[in-house]
Amino acid sequence: MLSPHTDDAELGAGGSIIRFLEEGKDVRWLVFSTAEESLPAGLPSDTLAAEFRKVVEHLGLRAGQYEIGDYRVRHLHEKRQDILEQLVRVRGEFQPDLVVIPSTRDYHQDHQVVANEAIRAFKTTASIICYEMPWNQVEFASTLFVRLAERHIRRKFDLLDFYKSQQLRRRDYMTREYIYGLAKVRGIQCSADYAEAFEVVRWMA
Ligand SMILES: [Zn+2]
Repeated sequence: MLSPHTDDAELGAGGSIIRFLEEGKDVRWLVFSTAEESLPAGLPSDTLAAEFRKVVEHLGLRAGQYEIGDYRVRHLHEKRQDILEQLVRVRGEFQPDLVVIPSTRDYHQDHQVVANEAIRAFKTTASIICYEMPWNQVEFASTLFVRLAERHIRRKFDLLDFYKSQQLRRRDYMTREYIYGLAKVRGIQCSADYAEAFEVVRWMA
């Protein structure tokens, strides 16, 4: 699970993460930037890292199942090679079957770096799917659906509720209306109560 910033993977794939953990899958979660420069004024610089730690603790992840990087927000392109080397290290240590990344057509500069380096690192060894962040994308091909129940979406919203610093900024995509609304749209497309959609880069069986 690759998250350029804290909260990206929760927003794009939070329900799927909860379902995968329920099914007993071994999850490794990498965050690259805690976006200190994007925090509302007056909050401690480690606010987003602390909020992310609450998320992984809530999910029951152990130390070693997640890594929190300290790259500068919007400057990941300057550390492209370091990010690739980190991903190659994780490929060797963890050998994932499935790698979940931002969309290759996500226009946030940091998301593009993580998507590109992930494909570079995992293209011959793992299935690769991209999560959806409609406000960063012009196009999205919803080619894979993870069917979810209401409890998955409820718990996804609980995860996002740990990000109090982002709610201060009144981001529309952190609202219950958005989380339930998009999950319902994706559920209707695959005959489920709710779902998350992904774009397939590689599928290995
Ligand atoms: Zn992000």
